[in-house]
Amino acid sequence: MGRRLIQNNIVLIGFSTTGKSQVARGVACLLEWDFFDTDVEIERLAGKEIPRIFAEEGEAHFRKLESQVVQQTCSRMHTVIATGGGAVLDPWNREAMSSNGVVVLLEANPETIHERLVQARQESGGVRPLLEVADPLARIKDLKASRLPFYSIADWTVHTDYLTIPEVCREVMRGWRYCQQEHSKQAFSDSPHDPACEVITDTRRYPIYIKWGLLDRLGELLCQTGLDGRIYVISDDIVYPLYGSSVEGSLRDSGLDTKAFVVSAGEATKSLGTAARIYDWLVENHVERRDTILALGGGMVGDLVGFVAATFLRGLSLIQVPTSLVAMVDASIGGKTAVNHPKAKNFIGSFYQPRLIVADVQTLRTLPPRELTSGWAEVIKHALILDAEGVSLLEKQAADLRRLKPEAVTAAIRRSAAIKAGIVSEDEKEEGRRILLNYGHTIAHGLETATNYERLLHGEAVAIGMAGAASVSCKLGFLSADDAERQQTLLKKFDLPTRCSNVDHKAVLAAMELDKKVQAKAIRWVLLTSLGQASIRSDVPQTIVREVVGQLLEY
Ligand code: NAD
Repeated sequence: MGRRLIQNNIVLIGFSTTGKSQVARGVACLLEWDFFDTDVEIERLAGKEIPRIFAEEGEAHFRKLESQVVQQTCSRMHTVIATGGGAVLDPWNREAMSSNGVVVLLEANPETIHERLVQARQESGGVRPLLEVADPLARIKDLKASRLPFYSIADWTVHTDYLTIPEVCREVMRGWRYCQQEHSKQAFSDSPHDPACEVITDTRRYPIYIKWGLLDRLGELLCQTGLDGRIYVISDDIVYPLYGSSVEGSLRDSGLDTKAFVVSAGEATKSLGTAARIYDWLVENHVERRDTILALGGGMVGDLVGFVAATFLRGLSLIQVPTSLVAMVDASIGGKTAVNHPKAKNFIGSFYQPRLIVADVQTLRTLPPRELTSGWAEVIKHALILDAEGVSLLEKQAADLRRLKPEAVTAAIRRSAAIKAGIVSEDEKEEGRRILLNYGHTIAHGLETATNYERLLHGEAVAIGMAGAASVSCKLGFLSADDAERQQTLLKKFDLPTRCSNVDHKAVLAAMELDKKVQAKAIRWVLLTSLGQASIRSDVPQTIVREVVGQLLEY
């Protein structure tokens, strides 16, 4: 597919009665894109209905108008276009369609087309030229055969004979996603300077740029995304003094107007109270819907600012510029936004995807060592659940990674972010596979609650939780003792804890039980079957859980 701008449009081609207009409208609604029907546009342009154009000015004139409309609509962005059955006959039309979008062919057997035409005539009357001949079915077959070579421009074909309109819409979306993924794989393999990966959900698609020293190019990347309003930078009082001027300088150098708001660092800031203060500031500054909010900082800032972007003016464009390791490989990716309730962490929030994520790996140089170590737990977790080769790389390169050697650390973060991006692309709202990311979390949540979120950083709790989950996996016979040992060694290489002293194991178990009650279902354990492969189980016996938690918390 080369360098085509396939993200811009979806163009539906195909014979009459295959449902192009209804499907285009449905898909546009799902994607929140614009919708165009070229036949409607031609009628608007000519000021008369198509049969009259044919009758009064002839087919050649109609085709000229059609070509004009196709060229114009195909040059748009984020538009679903339903084209007339004969639009593919013109080579310029075919070029316009396929160079600026994914082309989807809606197919149907001649018999189905005939049946649908007869039904449409019965229901709404009018002249159906294809039926006004001696043998309509033979005419349909001939026409279809003559157009067949032109339909080969399609990237994806949907056979509509046995499908309802909503089913066809879903198939078109599936094809569009598939083409996007294939295209981005190819684009990334062509150039190492392109994004590390992309998130592609049913409704959104955005790139994740991860490089060493990328902050200077931030403005350029934002302009590339088509953002042109004012950029409201929100950061915390540790990160802003370090990187605020580089960020704002880069934005200004690219001609973007910018303003900044700084909140206190620390989890206590992630509250509705802070969100309200940010809303006030946005109101004072007369923020408009075309403006953009940029989160500069760790996961705390990312979650809080994401929440504000999701709710202010019913949604503003959001850019994530993560500066902690946790935020680069985890928190900034996937659109989970939240503030804390005084009694429950992350309880107030929504799914809201950013437009772009830009991570400058170099910023990790100033991250406090304990925060960095905690972040490595997330990188290790991603490898353990899905990436056997990644596990080996982490084992081999632990020393270079911990010392933040630019090449090694950038590659490891790109790889880890791509795993998270892949999972959230498949399961945006955590209804299925995304739960794999909870490896180690069952025990970690219990530990964090029992220690009042004061003693352990999240990554440290997850590391202990992963040690526990590997032990459960072993006891159930899923994971070999050697693999469990390899995991322990890897965690220790990154200086992560694998057990914890002076914590009441009954309090941990009670917190885990409470989690179960809140979710009103059995705990879904993410277990390992090998290093790089995970599975989900809801039937882990309580005796095993008690035994493992007891061992983790022994002195
Ligand atoms: P954090 O944002 O609190 O950052 C930790 C500390 O490091 C802060 O003091 C911060 O100011 C500082 N810091 C960040 N980058 C720095 C840098 N480059 N140099 C110097 N100091 C820097 O914590 P975190 O670990 O980044 O993220 C944890 C938060 O993320 C929690 O609120 C958690 O709930 C959330 N989270 C969200 C998701 C999600 O999917 N949305 C996933 C994981 C975690």
